[in-house]
Amino acid sequence: MTPRDFPATDPQAQPEEVPFYEGLLVGEFRVPWCSRCQTFVWRPKSHCTACYDAISDWRVLPGTGEIYSYCVVAKGDGAFASVAPYVLAWVALDEGPTVLANIADGPDLVQIGYRVRLSVPTCDDRAFRGPVFMLS
Ligand SMILES: [Zn+2]
Repeated sequence: MTPRDFPATDPQAQPEEVPFYEGLLVGEFRVPWCSRCQTFVWRPKSHCTACYDAISDWRVLPGTGEIYSYCVVAKGDGAFASVAPYVLAWVALDEGPTVLANIADGPDLVQIGYRVRLSVPTCDDRAFRGPVFMLS
């Protein structure tokens, strides 16, 4: 099965999000880590949302998890119209955070509870895109 690329979704990433998006370009799922609370901070922020300490540490997760919930987008908006229908899912990562992501596999193959792993984009334009997972 071939993973497919999705259009760029966040061309104006906030500075605190840049390490996350740069990680996706090389197949790494990077998440800010609060050393004080000993927990992940999701979505990427410049500070911990619980104790407000500045984020100074990032962890690279294996990028594996399972589909917690999903929907099929029948008609994508803008550039996403060219890839519809596609699956938009909440993926519960094995390490804790649950993240919104696209699924590279077609809607007829996806079910809640299926295992997924992070997909590495195949396009080389270096544009920031949201996370894409594929069935594993
Ligand atoms: Zn904290």
